[in-house]
Amino acid sequence: MDSFAPRRVRASWQDTMATIVEYTDRKPPKNEYPRRIVSPSRSGPCCFTDMEEVGTAQQEERWVFQYRRCRKCGFTVRVILREIPDTALAAALRRTLASSFMRNVPEL
Ligand SMILES: [Zn+2]
Repeated sequence: MDSFAPRRVRASWQDTMATIVEYTDRKPPKNEYPRRIVSPSRSGPCCFTDMEEVGTAQQEERWVFQYRRCRKCGFTVRVILREIPDTALAAALRRTLASSFMRNVPEL
């Protein structure tokens, strides 16, 4: 099991997950968590040594993640704390499906 590694977090999975972070260089950095976070589009040398946690750990699909924001420049990333193993996810899904009998249940 990998320990979590913030340095390896890149924008690639930002594309596939909904995020409250807006990356722009045209607006000043702003922390309006949990509604919105405005972040510079690039991290600087200050980032990853001076990051602070924003909010609490959240789960989305197979990931448990948390926002981290640089105290100096405001650069924000979603750091994956852990990936939920298939077995645990399947069990959680079964519980969810069992309690949501009104929905169409896809074959797993
Ligand atoms: Zn920074």
